[in-house]
Amino acid sequence: MKQSKRYYIETFGCQMNERDSEIMGQLLKEEAYSATDVMEQADLIVVNTCSVREKAEQKAYSLLGRLKKLKEKNTGLIIAVAGCVAQQDGQRMLQRIPHVDLVIGPQKIYDLPSLLQGQKSCKTPEVRTGLSPLFAIPPFLPDVKNGSHFKRFVTIMQGCNNFCTYCVVPYTRGREISRNFDEIVNEVAHLAASGITEVTLLGQNVNSYGQDNAGTELAGLATFPDLLRAVAKVEGIQRLRFTTSHPKDLSETLMRCFAEIDTLCPHLHLPVQSGSNRLLKLMNRHYTKEAYLDKITRLRTIRPDVAITTDLIVGFPGETDEDFQATMALLEEVRYHNAFSFKYSDRPPARAIAFADKVTEEVKNDRLARLKERQEEITVERNREYVGRTLSVMVEGCGRTNGEQWSGRASTNHIVNFAGPSGLLPGQMISVTIAEGGPHSLRGVADVCNKGREQ
Ligand code: SF4
Repeated sequence: MKQSKRYYIETFGCQMNERDSEIMGQLLKEEAYSATDVMEQADLIVVNTCSVREKAEQKAYSLLGRLKKLKEKNTGLIIAVAGCVAQQDGQRMLQRIPHVDLVIGPQKIYDLPSLLQGQKSCKTPEVRTGLSPLFAIPPFLPDVKNGSHFKRFVTIMQGCNNFCTYCVVPYTRGREISRNFDEIVNEVAHLAASGITEVTLLGQNVNSYGQDNAGTELAGLATFPDLLRAVAKVEGIQRLRFTTSHPKDLSETLMRCFAEIDTLCPHLHLPVQSGSNRLLKLMNRHYTKEAYLDKITRLRTIRPDVAITTDLIVGFPGETDEDFQATMALLEEVRYHNAFSFKYSDRPPARAIAFADKVTEEVKNDRLARLKERQEEITVERNREYVGRTLSVMVEGCGRTNGEQWSGRASTNHIVNFAGPSGLLPGQMISVTIAEGGPHSLRGVADVCNKGREQ
């Protein structure tokens, strides 16, 4: 029997890329490819790249360089590069890595089957990039037989209009384009009918969903809170999440959803980036520290058990000790449940590459270490607040040690490792009483009954 061709996808970066990789995997399966976890066995390797941080871009290029040997051994191997680096470097990618066959921008991933057809007849490398304001995310129902059987991402928009001065996303993924409202709800209904119980609505800036319809016949028809309410009505969805949000677009109506929608999980990732108003202005973030803190206070009034996480940048051009201290002070004020912190790096063509007063690597390393250390202490303190509480945990899999150690997630998005009965299934809800809070997770013991109930 003729063996089907095999594909391997390596994904760098964010959840948007993870979802794009799933879509490419599904398109490939429709073309009779099957997935392999062994890169050396693949007939097609897709490297789905991210250019938001220098490190992720370097890793992607380093992998692409190493693929040269595989291509020499297997001349029929097709190497495709997708994602933001593909969009950004386009034709230059072929000069830098001549053994690449296909370069595919984020708006062009749906062209993958036709590009592969093209490779059958002609071995010339092809670049398919470009961004169109008229692009519409195609109607596309996910294949529920593959991937997680209990939780999924659902893309609701692409691109970003914010032009934060350190960020390449508006250049690599284009302007904001909201997906059709009914198609999103249909996709969630399709997932729920197939047994999926948790969905995360996905976009660079989900809380401005629908705003790009201004001036069209769709203007004013649907906002992000409207979408959340519609999705929450889909029968079978037990947990609803969304990511990522821009603080300036976090409206009172959206905050109230955390009290009004039972299935909306009490977790908000709200990237602040800096605690210095001077830097927030230079970053083009359109809020002040005070306005951000007001929103945090309001949200905690509306939903006291909400867990708040954030992103922070250290060493933005011109960051003084005083600016950095303002960020450290913000950690104390907000007491985030967790924070993802990064060193600033130039990301052309983002505007900050031209900013003066670049911070030295030494200073950046020192500030990053201090910030991470303090945040880790706060995270542990925060996690210890859960000790003695019973949380409803969605089982994700068994732990490393034996079959009676399990791992799952609380509605607050905490990883919970727990001792429980054998035979639990991924996606099952179980009550766990927390005994310990560590820097990366909570630890506890499952209550005997299998039905989750939060206290
Ligand atoms: S909001 Fe700012 S940081 Fe986020 S994707 Fe848009 S430009 Fe980048």
